Amino acid sequence: MNKNHYLARHIMDSSWGTFKQMLEYKANRLVEIEPYNTSVECSRCGSLVPKTLAMRIHECNRCGAVLDRDHNSGINIEQRGMKLLGLPLRKLPIQHGKVTSVETLCRVA
Ligand SMILES: [Zn+2]
Repeated sequence: MNKNHYLARHIMDSSWGTFKQMLEYKANRLVEIEPYNTSVECSRCGSLVPKTLAMRIHECNRCGAVLDRDHNSGINIEQRGMKLLGLPLRKLPIQHGKVTSVETLCRVA
């Protein structure tokens, strides 16, 4: 079924629909945000840091933030949701400006 791209797309769409239904049922509040540039935007300073999908570390030349790209993206998603709800934004702590040992291992591998 996955070789048929048309059918695979419908399967993926229905999976997201089911996932969204489950979230709506379980969550107290559900906010949908625009996912555009969530992995490119720096969660600390807001500048755009272009990267390929293979680049797993977010490194901002402007503010020096260095963290896993998924972590950076997650913070951006949280911030957009908080903004939509009118709640205060959480800033990225300053200690994320340095590379941790785990992040260093990721760079070497
Ligand atoms: Zn930055």
